[in-house]
Amino acid sequence: MNAEQIALALDAKASPVSGRTQYKVRCPLHNGGSQNLYLKDGDDRLLVHCFAGCNGADIIDYLKSQSLLPSASKDIPVKKISPKEVQAFIVAHETMLKAGAPTSTKSQRTYRAYQRMHYKPFEPGEVAEMQYYCLAFKAMLHRGETPTPADCRTFTAYRKILQDKGVPYAW
Ligand SMILES: [Zn+2]
Repeated sequence: MNAEQIALALDAKASPVSGRTQYKVRCPLHNGGSQNLYLKDGDDRLLVHCFAGCNGADIIDYLKSQSLLPSASKDIPVKKISPKEVQAFIVAHETMLKAGAPTSTKSQRTYRAYQRMHYKPFEPGEVAEMQYYCLAFKAMLHRGETPTPADCRTFTAYRKILQDKGVPYAW
């Protein structure tokens, strides 16, 4: 459950503080009349703060006892990044590289991680097809035939994908 759902479960009159990620509700621990308890969606966990002074860990325990939070924190799903965002980052990073612009170490790490995520969707069958294409392309060159520009582009793209996946494209 996210902050909004938990807030509404605790207090039917829960008020949004900012957008739909932060809410204030009446605190179930000290049961005061004001909405002292703030709930917010963190990156991987729910953040809580009671301005009347209740202990945050006690509040989390209470939410778990009410099944509003899973008992093991590892069960809380981490916010997922969409394939579109991943691709947008890859394109932006590659544009910077081509322009010779400096990229930070963090940005390079993210780029490599995103590349792995981006290419993960390929099924073994698709990988086999790409391997076969690369093999056929090389055989064509060996025979002295001239590949079309489109074939060259496909080969370059497939080879890059296979190399990124650590899959050999030639035997
Ligand atoms: Zn409280």
